[in-house]
Order: sequence, then structure tokens, then C-alpha cells
Amino acid sequence: MKYKYIPVIGMEVHIELSTESKMFCECPAFHFGVKPNTQVCPVCLGLPGALPYPNKKAIEDTIKFGSVFGCKINSISKFDRKHYFYPDLPKSYQISQYDLPFCHDGKYLLPDTNEKIGITRIHLEEDTGKLIHKKIGGTKYSFVDFNRSGVPLLELVTEPDFRDLIDVSSFLKEIQLIARYLGISAADMEKGSMRLEANISVAKVENNSLKELPKYKVELKNINSFKFLEKALKAEIQRQKEMLEMGEKIIQETRGYNESSGNTFSQRTKEEEKDYRYFPEPDIPPIEVSKKEIDEIILSKGLLHSDFRKILRDEYSLPLNYVEYLIGKKSRVEYFINSVKKGKKFSISPKTLADLIVNNKFDEKYEDTSKLIQAVQNLQKKVYSGTKEVDKAALRVIKDNKKAVEDFKKGKTEVVGFLIGMVQKILKGKGNPKDIQKSLLSRLQK
Ligand SMILES: [Zn+2]
Repeated sequence: MKYKYIPVIGMEVHIELSTESKMFCECPAFHFGVKPNTQVCPVCLGLPGALPYPNKKAIEDTIKFGSVFGCKINSISKFDRKHYFYPDLPKSYQISQYDLPFCHDGKYLLPDTNEKIGITRIHLEEDTGKLIHKKIGGTKYSFVDFNRSGVPLLELVTEPDFRDLIDVSSFLKEIQLIARYLGISAADMEKGSMRLEANISVAKVENNSLKELPKYKVELKNINSFKFLEKALKAEIQRQKEMLEMGEKIIQETRGYNESSGNTFSQRTKEEEKDYRYFPEPDIPPIEVSKKEIDEIILSKGLLHSDFRKILRDEYSLPLNYVEYLIGKKSRVEYFINSVKKGKKFSISPKTLADLIVNNKFDEKYEDTSKLIQAVQNLQKKVYSGTKEVDKAALRVIKDNKKAVEDFKKGKTEVVGFLIGMVQKILKGKGNPKDIQKSLLSRLQK
């Protein structure tokens, strides 16, 4: 009997928050392109005796983010120590959250398929330093830059609800837009302010139903782009399917992806939770967030890309590709909405404005929406045909529509509308209605 196999995928998404200071000290959090080890202090270097104090803004950002997914917000949360050894982690533990994260049990409905993705938890932790590997004079060296050490890092963990790769990338793009619209992170994959890990297993389907989730999962780490993720997932799903078909057992481990060979490779067997020896961070008391504070944070959220998606699609009836392009950037969609409001006074349709922004990048040409509206008006004037062309078309229409001309002369003046339409047809809609009427009447009334 041949079984059918389907992938079971869960995602872990790390997002670096763009707060001014780091998670537990006053050092600046922005570290891209900054000279190594210039933004450090005893706290983020993990020197003995240094005391961490949490960043309020980072906590608010996390709760705001969690509210988008309808998460339950814990009124009491705490930080915990997660122990492991690595050269970019000087304390040999990371301050993270274990059993009381700020947010848990949420969900997200994917825009195209309405597929429900369960959000297990969203917690806050500190980022690690960064290892830089360099070859100097033929010798390999590794350097550590601690500027990133202690930068607030939000982690979102989903349920293993993904069954195909399109849903995974659709979800991740939504996450990226949510972080950007909330203004909590640039969520830039290339720079590493958004990082992904995937948990993958393959399940056997019998009689079209998935009886139970697999008892193992393989973690894919160090994924730095959506394309890379898709390739790595495909390769890993294939590997697992082949193993299952051969009757082999798949072990729980962490794997990486080699782009040139197109295969995943074993990095290490996966740690279990008990290996981290979590315990409450003794230097930071539990954090209480009141109902009132939570409500205020949620109220300050503003409109998200999904709200604009609805407005553009349902109120302005724009084509889907236009909608997705416009909402791709918050500043762009706000510019568009602003220009629609100004254009309304001059009967410029949302579709016209969307055309010019999507196809001709008018938003980049005219920073000020008033200037954009002016440009559109000039453009609309220019598209009218000259009076010579209008006269020529009017003459032809009068010649070709003798019956209508006779009717007009008998007093049926309403046929003018029909004649104007015929002239517009010749001019492909580019005639100024006033010019056409004038030209027709001067000939009809002779
Ligand atoms: Zn510091």
C-alpha cells in the first residue's frame, strides 16, 4: 500500500525591535554599520554584578504585536534565564521568557486562503552578539562584536499548522508588513532584523486524513531570505519523504541548508528543553501589566496593511495586484489615500491615481500629493484632442449619421448625445465633451 505524505510545518520568527535603547541597558539598539564593540556596557557585555533593567517600550511593542493576533496577554509575565554556551553569549545564558510570555494563544487568518494559523506564543528576549569570521594573511580568525548583544528580540512561535509552502511565505510576508506598519521593526531579512527557523516533519496520510502529528521534528536554522527558506523546506521535505518511504526513522535534530548542493545537512542533535535549565531571572521582578495599560497599547495600534487592503479592494474596487503593490509600504498607501481625498474635489478617480502610482511611480516624482493632483489635472487636459481633430471627427459623424441629423432638424435635440458618443468613439475618448458639442452644434444648426 502506497501512502501519501504531507508536510507539517511550524515557524519561529525572530524580530529585532527598533527601540532607542537595548533590552536591559541604556546602550543604543541600532547597530547596523556601527564600529564593532562601541555600543556596549557592563550589562550587555554580561560582566559580573551588572544589573539588567527592562525596556518598557520593548514590552509595549510586544503586546501591541501580540494584539494583532488576538493573543491572550498575561497580566503577570516574567523573564527567565535560558542556559547554553556560545562565544557570542558572554553570560552563558540568555534572558528570555519561559512559562509566562507576554502573549500566547492567538491566531492569524491568511489573506488568500483564509487558512487559520495558530500562534502559540510571542515572547521577548535579548539578542546575542555577532561572530565575524575573517581570513587575515592566510589564517582564519573569528571576532566577536557585542553591539548587537542585548538588543530587544521578539520571538513569535506558530503551531505546526502549515501544510504547504505557499502558506508559509504568505504568512511571513504578512508578519513582515505587520511589524513595519506598527513601526516596531524594519523586519529586514537581509540585515537580519527578521530571522526565521522552521520545524518540519512529514506526516503519513491514510484515506485522506492525517491521523496524528509526527512524533519528531527537524529544525532548519540560519535562514536569511524567503527564497532560501522555500528551497531549504523543499529539500528537507523531499529528504524526509524518501526516508519514510524506505522505512527509515527520522531523528530529531537541527539542520542547515547548503545552497550549492541543494541539500540540508545535520548540524547537531536538537537540545531538549531540559538542557537549557530555565529558571526565573532573579534580577528582574515579575512584570505586571494592567488591563488599562493593555487597552491603551492596543488602541495606539493604528491602521494595519490588512485594513488598507480592505479599503482599497472593497471601497475603491482596485485590482488585486494594485492593492498588494500599494499596501507593500505604509508610506505609499498613506500617500495614495491622501491623494484620493485631494483628487475627489477635481473628480479624479482612485483608479486613475493608482494607475499613475503603480505604473509610472508618480509618488516618487511628486513628494507632495497637492503637486501630484496638479500634475494629473495637467495630464488630463493634455490628453484632449485638438479642435481640428474634433471638427474632422464631427464632420464625419454628421456625414455618416444622416438619420440622426434629420431627427435633430425635426426638433429631436436629444440625438446630440448620441452624436457626441460617436465622435468620442472616433477620438478614442480623447475629445473634450465641450469642444465636441460646440463643433457639432455649429454644423447642425447651419
Ligand atoms: Zn549596554
